[in-house]
Amino acid sequence: MSERPTSAPPAVAERAAADLVRLLARDLGPGLHVVATPIGNLGDITLRALATLAAADIVYCEDTRHSRTLVAHFAITTKLRPYHEFNAEAERPRILARLAAGDRIALISDAGTPLISDPGYKLVRDVIDAGHPVFTLPGPCAAIAALSIAGLPTDCFCFVGFLPTRSGQRQTRLRQLASIPATLVVYEAPIRVAASLADMALTLGDRPAVIAREITKLHEELIRGTLAELAHRFAGSELRGELAILVGPPVAAEVSDADIERALAVALQTGSRRDAILSVTHQLAVPRARVYNLATLVEQGE
Ligand code: SAM
Repeated sequence: MSERPTSAPPAVAERAAADLVRLLARDLGPGLHVVATPIGNLGDITLRALATLAAADIVYCEDTRHSRTLVAHFAITTKLRPYHEFNAEAERPRILARLAAGDRIALISDAGTPLISDPGYKLVRDVIDAGHPVFTLPGPCAAIAALSIAGLPTDCFCFVGFLPTRSGQRQTRLRQLASIPATLVVYEAPIRVAASLADMALTLGDRPAVIAREITKLHEELIRGTLAELAHRFAGSELRGELAILVGPPVAAEVSDADIERALAVALQTGSRRDAILSVTHQLAVPRARVYNLATLVEQGE
């Protein structure tokens, strides 16, 4: 085995510390600073995030108890205030007033990048409308982290966030997504993984998929398979921890009339004629009129 050149750890630490000291000495501009924080591994905090959280006049977060662990770890003493879906309407005007007075305000969420399936969109929109500066402090995001190691196409992807919790609504949403030529990135709660995988297999067809679990944490795991395989493997079970489901794009193969007829026959076993036509249209990404005409021909026995 070849000898690995190593940089001296104290030198790395000194350089990082010097950069942080330099960042801490800089004036933070007035405005809203949207700061990404780790998704499970505190080592993923960025130097700019630390400097911004330390220098801000106030840090808005979803849950002050949760975020206190993060700031306390780095000896940051900036005051924390909650900004979450239940107090957002009341808190936004106060934040805008503080920005108008020239405050430097940081926004974080419980984990990862604010606004990505987390609060903050309306705040950023209103801050922009009011003419105040908005800065981004990029960093961890579960969707991007999962994409970077899933081994599915990354040239075009569609961030879906959380799917509806009820199966009917979930299937409707999935059908809307079925023909998008992109890798889908879905956030899911452990309790609903099995049901979601089953609905995905039903509505999206048997595409390659990856469950990315506990990324950056001790029990990080990537589980690969087709949607049908994963749905079968996890039927009735619950996966622990935080996870994202990634689904490869639909295969752009030529769809024959026989393919459509076969898919129609399957869909008609569980759904009405109308639902079957809709489902096959989305599943195979073909024009609805073509599916409708074939369904009619089959019924007429032609
Ligand atoms: N803002 C966050 C981001 O940038 O990724 C997402 C917040 S959302 C409320 C939380 C969801 O993100 C979890 O339910 C899970 O689907 C996904 N997630 C967060 N951390 C994760 C991790 N370490 N591994 C896998 N998925 C994660």
